[in-house]
Order: sequence, then C-alpha cells, then structure tokens
Amino acid sequence: MLKKLPLWAKIFIGMGLGILWGLISVWTGWELFTSNWVKPWGTIFLKLLKLIAVPLIFVSLVKGISSLTDITKLSRIGYKTIVIYITTTIFATTVGLALVNIMKPGDVFPDEKQEQYRQKFGGQVELKQKSAAEIETQSPLHFFEDMIPENFFLAAGDNSKMLQIIFFAILFSVALVLIPGGKTQVVKDFFDGLNDVILKIVDIIMRFAPIGVFALMASLVVDFSGDSDIFTALGLYMLTVTLGLFLLILGLYPLMIRVFARIRIPDFMKGILPAQLVAFTTSSSAATLPVTLKQVTEELKVSKPIANFVLPVGVTINMDGTSCYQAIAAVFIAQVFGIELTLVQQLTIVLTATLASIGSPGIPSGSIVMLIIVLNSVGLPVEGLALILGVDRPLDMLRTVVNITGDSTVASIVARSEGELDYK
Ligand code: ASP
Repeated sequence: MLKKLPLWAKIFIGMGLGILWGLISVWTGWELFTSNWVKPWGTIFLKLLKLIAVPLIFVSLVKGISSLTDITKLSRIGYKTIVIYITTTIFATTVGLALVNIMKPGDVFPDEKQEQYRQKFGGQVELKQKSAAEIETQSPLHFFEDMIPENFFLAAGDNSKMLQIIFFAILFSVALVLIPGGKTQVVKDFFDGLNDVILKIVDIIMRFAPIGVFALMASLVVDFSGDSDIFTALGLYMLTVTLGLFLLILGLYPLMIRVFARIRIPDFMKGILPAQLVAFTTSSSAATLPVTLKQVTEELKVSKPIANFVLPVGVTINMDGTSCYQAIAAVFIAQVFGIELTLVQQLTIVLTATLASIGSPGIPSGSIVMLIIVLNSVGLPVEGLALILGVDRPLDMLRTVVNITGDSTVASIVARSEGELDYK
C-alpha cells in the first residue's frame, strides 16, 4: 500500500515521522544515536541534490534557450514574449521579497535561539558573513566581474559559482542559436537527450526524498532540541508564500488580462480553470501543457501558432510562482539563521531567483535544486533546505497553478497585440 502512495505523500509522512523520531530521541536521550545513524542519510540526500545542481542548470538552460530558434522566425513575437515573461518574473520575485521582509516569518524564532543555531553552524555562517562584508566594500561592478568565469571547470567545481555556470550556459546557447543550418543539430540533440537523463537522475534522487526528509527533520528537531518555535516559523513561512502566490493569481494576472488582453476576468478564470486544476494536482507545468494549450486555444480563443510558441516556452522559462517562492524561501532561511541580508544581497536574490526560475524544470519540486543557487549566491547555508523541504509539496501545487496561469496570461496578451485573439 505504501508503494502506491504518491511521492509527495511519502515525503509528508517522512517529515512527520522524522519530527516524531526527533522528539522521541530528545525525550529518551537518543540524540547521539540520531546524530550518528540518522543524520548522515539527510546529508547524503543533500549531497545528491547538490551533485545534480550544476549539470541540471547547465543543460536545462541550454535546452530552454536553444529551443527558441524560432526567435529569428517569430522574432517580434519572441521578443514580446520574452520581455513580458521576464518582467512578470522580476515583479513576482519582488513581491515575494517584499512580503517576506514585511511578514518576517523566520523572525518569530527567538534571538537567543538564533544565536545557538548560529553557533552550531558557527564556522560556516561566520565565513559567509565575512564574505557579505567583503561584498559591501567592493566596486559596484564587482558583481558582473564575478559573474564571468576564468575557467569553466573551476566554476563547475564550486557550487557557489553557479552564476558563472549560468553565464556560460547563456553564452553557449546564444551561440548555438546563432549558428544556422543543420551543423549544430547534433549538439542540440545531444543536449535534448542529456536533459532527459538528468531529469531522470532528479527523479531517482527524489525517490530517496522521503528518507532524506525523515533524516533531515529528525536531526533538525534534535539540533533544535524539540523546539516548537521552528514549527511556528514554518507555519508563517507557508502563509507568506501562499499570500504571495494569491497576490499574483488574484491581483497581477487579472489586471493584466483586463488591461492588456481585454478579456473579462470571469471568462479568463473559467477558461483556464481546468488547466489550473491539473496543475494543482500534478505539480508539473510541463505535464499540464497539453491541457493549458487546449484551454487557451479553445476557451480563450488564442490562435494556435501563438499558443504553440508562447506556452511551451513559458513552461521552460516563465515561472512566476516559483521565483516568488524562491525569494521568500531564501530570506526565510536567512531569518531563521539570524543572518542579516544587505540590500545588495537582496538584489542578488531578485536576480538569481529570476534566473533560477528560468532554469527550473516544470516538474514536481523542480525548483528545489535550483534554490541551492539562490542560497549559494548570497552565502546562505544550504542546510536551510532541510527546513522547508517537508512543507514544500502544498506550496509546489500552488506555485505550479501560478506558473501556468502566468503563461496563459502572457499568451493572451501577445495574441491580442498581434490581432490573433478571437475574443469579442
Ligand atoms: N513544480 C513547478 C512547476 O512545474 C516547478 C517548481 O516550482 O518546483 O511549474
């Protein structure tokens, strides 16, 4: 029976059992046993996630960008689509950042406990803070200077240099797109295949997630000595993400639909609802694509050529829900660890969360691995992932709904601007 359960349910159970195990260990004095025999499984799971991060971001970015060969053919539509996609993503990230700074879900965690936790992860956090202080004294252009790798392999060998990998991936795929004809077809096919392989690896790693989450949660509870504050903080974190996602779905998109696509909001909502439900249940915008295409062309009356271009590109690069959540998650982790983020660091989060959402595959928990990039970019401890992993599934369901609603909104707007929207 356990085998038949969907993965998210297993992760959820893993989390619950992990908390229980942690509490029992604290009560019975098994902390050492848990640290020696349970915690390593969590570390293994985290290492597996980190292992796949660099290949995943490189290959999915190359695949995403090079599938835009149509830019040349549909250059105007391509240009509009990309500009609106990126603008809405940056907006979503900013909404997330603003909300998490206002609601401060991680701050309910008492100061003296932050201090304890900081000491536990002491060396690490100090190191990161030192680099944060260094950042402040550097030239404003240092950020860009730092983005260019001197050596691809050195960059690929250091998970904190993820931005350099992104830079090279973009350069590589732009070059790939610029070379005409069939000569590069073999390269594209290679990346296509490689992408499948890497997604499969993610799939395999995620099967291990229930055990990983169990171990991470158990050791977290032991580390926090059965502290209930962390769970209050997690509840508030979930509330913040949910609020951000609802702002997008009930505020931003309806406004854009009304003003730019000139579609009545209830008509839009009714038309897109079936796709939203599929997105909610599958947690995968890629899996939802066929339904999104059908609804957008049949109900919202967007022409097929536009929908066929805008929507698949959107599934790859436009994830407003994801970027909003990544910003919130990163700052939440910083708050729990008691790490102050500077303005430059917050802006770095906007940039990396935007890029990471572009690189996230449209599959369940697709963005978890990418979150490592956001955390690394501002020197936050990746261990923080353990905190939010257990409660990720319901948030994943919601952000996938936002992701496909964003794609559909943009498809309608582009169609309207091209006179290819048959809606009166
Ligand atoms: N599950 C999301 C999607 O498919 C991606 C993510 O945020 O994990 O759109």
